[in-house]
Amino acid sequence: MQSKDLVQLAEQFGSPLYVYDAEKIQSQYSRLTKAFSKVEKLRINYAMKALSNVAILQLLKEMGSGLDTVSIQEVLLGLHAGYEPEKIFYTPNGVSLEEIEEVNAMGVQINIDNLSILEQFGTKHPNVPVCIRINPHVMAGGNANISVGHIDSKFGISVHQLPHLVRIVENTKMNIVGIHMHTGSDILDIEVFLYAAEILFDAARNFKNLEFLDFGSGFKVPYKKDDIETDIEELGKKLSKRFNAFCTEYGKELTLIFEPGKFLVSEAGFFLAKVNVVKQTTSTVFAGIDSGFNHLIRPMFYGSQHHIENISHPKGKERFYSVVGYICETDTFANNRKIAEIKEGDILSFRNAGAYCFSMASNYNSRYKPAEVLWMNGEGHLIRAHETFEDILKNQIMLPSALATV
Ligand SMILES: *Cc1c(COP(=O)(O)O)cnc(C)c1O
Repeated sequence: MQSKDLVQLAEQFGSPLYVYDAEKIQSQYSRLTKAFSKVEKLRINYAMKALSNVAILQLLKEMGSGLDTVSIQEVLLGLHAGYEPEKIFYTPNGVSLEEIEEVNAMGVQINIDNLSILEQFGTKHPNVPVCIRINPHVMAGGNANISVGHIDSKFGISVHQLPHLVRIVENTKMNIVGIHMHTGSDILDIEVFLYAAEILFDAARNFKNLEFLDFGSGFKVPYKKDDIETDIEELGKKLSKRFNAFCTEYGKELTLIFEPGKFLVSEAGFFLAKVNVVKQTTSTVFAGIDSGFNHLIRPMFYGSQHHIENISHPKGKERFYSVVGYICETDTFANNRKIAEIKEGDILSFRNAGAYCFSMASNYNSRYKPAEVLWMNGEGHLIRAHETFEDILKNQIMLPSALATV
């Protein structure tokens, strides 16, 4: 979609605003399925924590996607969006046995990532088909917070604990139907991914009733010009070949599952904010926008780079700016960034605002969360209304007057 469309949407729906390009989500989905077209049974489960608006879930469902969920509330949203329970996968970490049982009762595929719960669940429900999350301990991921496969990670059951795991499965007579891994975000090196896949195959050889292997996600997307991204086509070629060979060895056509979040929605998203103030100090020029880390926390949380453009005046002379928010705490979106000359009132557009942006937004400083718009067939569809003061007050309970006057 084009900058002039974004400017028009900011005028129509106000700022700050999240906009998602449906076509980009669809083309990323197709790219992934095409890269793995040699695999007979392929399934994509969209990791909905990246962007969980029900309209986005509907769009992906239309394309044939399943869902990867990490909480019972995400499962409920998925069901609400019309997904069959069989199309929903539940991969929690550190949740209670009760929540896992509740989700299982809804007919959703559960994935267990620690031996304690595995033993308790298996003893109570030996016949339920269960997937287990392995930690292959390969170092991947662009940042310590998003790298989840390494040795000190809290995620998954260590491959070094496989003998113990197998003993639990034999003792409880559990039905293990899948093996899962998710090594973290931002995988650059395909060889590392393939190496982790071999560890998954090794683990799989311990189980006789498998139906699928789930390779998680972690595909890196480009954030700036000339940025490197995971070569999906190359990964598709190499992993498909290995996967098909493994199926032959195993004696059964297994389903290959991926659970991408970022890959499907990151580049489809634009965050639009208006410049309230241009402030010249002795050291820099600040562009202060009508937003903050309450709406987009990734730069402050992960140090991630979101490309920023002045879409109101894209042709202006480029100057250096520090783009900051209005939160009463330092909330810098970008330092010393070259942007076409900014005037107060201009709309700035942040790229890669589809994944982990709105879904991490909060009401900090008692601000409203932004509205969300889906751009589809050349038209903007409102998929989340602006909040109002009612939303801020909702669930808050005033003290009774007798107490308040003490
Ligand atoms: C977050 C998550 C994903 C998605 O990761 P992306 O980097 O957004 O693709 C997939 N699987 C699990 C289990 C996750 O927790």
